[in-house]
Amino acid sequence: MNLIGKDDIIKKLSSMKKSGRMPHSIIFSGEEGAGRKTVARYFAALLICENPTEGDIIAPCGECRHCRRILGGTHPDFIIPERTGKTLIYTRDTMRQVVSDTAIMPNDTDRKIYFFPDFDNTAIQSQNILLKSIEEPPGGVQFIFTVTDPGVLLPTILSRSVVIEVRDIKGEFTAEINAPYFERASKLSNALLSGDEYSFSAVLHESSDTTEARARLKKTLKAFEKILRDAVILCETGKCDNPASPCEEEAKALAKKFSLRRLTAYFDIIESESKKLSYITNTPLTGAVVTANIFSS
Ligand SMILES: [Zn+2]
Repeated sequence: MNLIGKDDIIKKLSSMKKSGRMPHSIIFSGEEGAGRKTVARYFAALLICENPTEGDIIAPCGECRHCRRILGGTHPDFIIPERTGKTLIYTRDTMRQVVSDTAIMPNDTDRKIYFFPDFDNTAIQSQNILLKSIEEPPGGVQFIFTVTDPGVLLPTILSRSVVIEVRDIKGEFTAEINAPYFERASKLSNALLSGDEYSFSAVLHESSDTTEARARLKKTLKAFEKILRDAVILCETGKCDNPASPCEEEAKALAKKFSLRRLTAYFDIIESESKKLSYITNTPLTGAVVTANIFSS
């Protein structure tokens, strides 16, 4: 089985398998359409494949009866709990059913794998019901989640799970999805170019810590990170490797004004702060920290 364009994830999962330390709870985070559910099925197949590939990379074969039934959605030990209601959520009743089901032996393997796609809108009360099973999973029980933003999960669940970010490499510059964020990132670039700390911080300003505010800030930082990455590459190689970027002009201007070292430092700041945003739920503070770090670096 292959995951096209996701070599880093294949490597990561393979080394977990090799070391015999597959996490009991794993969260695949990322944008809609980035391929999180495909990665989740790949992970499940890797857990119970009868004939995984050997050598440098351990991967599920994709052909044995377990792999085929996971891919086809018919494996009795690969359980996708039902989402109900208008907004399709995992209710408390569903969670209670899952918890009591974990006590029942698997059908056809030595594992029971519970897969919760689109976990984003799950209420805290529902998550709490599941918490105990994640803390002390009965033998062979595994949990897989996909979310847009891991910050919606209880910190107690997060701390017991491995989080893997799934990115859609090819779709990274899909203009229609990212356009508003590239517009904001373009403002950040211009403020940085003119040394205008006030305008820079205004773009990142969020007064509340809602899911929307966090998502907005995260996407803005992501778009800015991409502009900076293009600028770093331009500075290093003299050419732009990303002709589809909506902010080529900004990247060029940044590469002209700043040294490679300075651009790399900017890139590192943005990358690390935007990663933290998935775990630390203080959106207003993050915007301020980014501005302070950029303008004091
Ligand atoms: Zn297989």
